[in-house]
Amino acid sequence: MKNTLPKTDLTEDELSVFRQFLKFELEPRVKEYDEKGEFPEGFFRKMHDLGYLQAFLPSESGGTNLSTLSLAKMMRAMAFHSAGISTSFAGNLLAWVSILQAQETEDLQRVITEYSGTFFLSSFCFTEPEHGSDVFRISTTFEEVGGEFILNGKKCFVTNGNFAKQFVVVARRKSQSEIEKNPEFQLFLVPRESDGVSFGKPYEKMGHRESNTTDLYLSRVRVPRERQLRVPSGMRSGLDLAFQSIQRSRILLAAAACGVADRALDLARTYLKDRVLYGKSLLTQPQIRGTLVQSHAECEAVWQMCRYAGEAWDSGARDFTPSSMAKLLSGQMVTRATQSAVELFGGWGCVKEFGIEKLYRDAKFYEILEGPTFVQQAIIAKELLSK
Ligand SMILES: Cc1cc2nc3c(=O)[nH]c(=O)nc-3n(C[C@H](O)[C@H](O)[C@H](O)COP(=O)(O)OP(=O)(O)OC[C@H]3O[C@@H](n4cnc5c(N)ncnc54)[C@H](O)[C@@H]3O)c2cc1C
Repeated sequence: MKNTLPKTDLTEDELSVFRQFLKFELEPRVKEYDEKGEFPEGFFRKMHDLGYLQAFLPSESGGTNLSTLSLAKMMRAMAFHSAGISTSFAGNLLAWVSILQAQETEDLQRVITEYSGTFFLSSFCFTEPEHGSDVFRISTTFEEVGGEFILNGKKCFVTNGNFAKQFVVVARRKSQSEIEKNPEFQLFLVPRESDGVSFGKPYEKMGHRESNTTDLYLSRVRVPRERQLRVPSGMRSGLDLAFQSIQRSRILLAAAACGVADRALDLARTYLKDRVLYGKSLLTQPQIRGTLVQSHAECEAVWQMCRYAGEAWDSGARDFTPSSMAKLLSGQMVTRATQSAVELFGGWGCVKEFGIEKLYRDAKFYEILEGPTFVQQAIIAKELLSK
């Protein structure tokens, strides 16, 4: 849907109110969510009640048309307290970005209006068990029968899947021949209650345990014609729609990685200040100060890339390189930052009570989610090496 209205930014005061909300509503319970692998649906309901979950919607649909940079600031703030919560927020948003970018229809407008006033979650379903990064070979199919679509297939790693009310599903047109030169891909908005939709159990993950992830099974699922996300003018195929939505989301994940690195630095600074060895606080040791400064500088460099990529995106640029560069470097940065923070805690870094080991577990995901290192490098190489 064409949204040409100017984006709005969160003011410093609004951001500070959001941070207070996270501090009081999220922080006290994150440890428990992580231990139990529990997804706090109620927290997301509160986010919706306060307008945070739908702030990205255009103003005429009940949102504030929030800019990518402001959403990135929200992601950074959320990930400071909980990487998993920010991942679920991003998963929901990823589905909505596809819906909002698709050609406007009365049916989609109804769904958007409903969401602005009623809480529910959405999921974006691209990854399949046999075709991870190799997305051109996905085997979930659609076929047109009697004016509607029939979907068959299996999706994995569906963020929010056990809780979502609707699913944006990427599928390829069912073909009669084994060898297809130009397969057609389309996106469909599948309601949870559709006949033939079923789910796996929540995954037991190493990190981001407060985020729900599961499998989605589609067995002869009938999707009405108006639930196809039609490709807008300027895009060639459903894959463009999916790729553009993911590319925008990568900026937000890179911002979340900054939030996790911020927390690692915060915990390390507090711990090292009070840790006295050889008669001095460890925070006074030049080598230790150097390690913290290095992490901080790398984190701020990634943040500036998020800022650049976000502003470019909102200005209408559709060059994929800035967001892939932000995503690529953010994963490496946060893995290094949390690894050195664990080390600076010594043996206590491996003990749950100190909180730093959780960040270490969470950090690795930023090198995998929404395209692992290899995929980001391939996207950047396409531009860099084709000149
Ligand atoms: C917590 C979590 C939430 C997720 N949420 C969603 C979601 O909501 N929706 C969704 O669709 N997906 C989701 N994903 C899936 C995620 O995007 C994929 O895991 C990711 O894209 C990689 O796919 P894969 O796991 O199948 O790895 P693979 O594609 O099998 O890759 C395995 C490894 O091989 C490397 N590799 C692959 N090809 C090559 C090559 N040609 N040369 C060199 N190296 C290569 C990769 O870099 C990687 O290190 C989620 C994943 C996680 C962990």
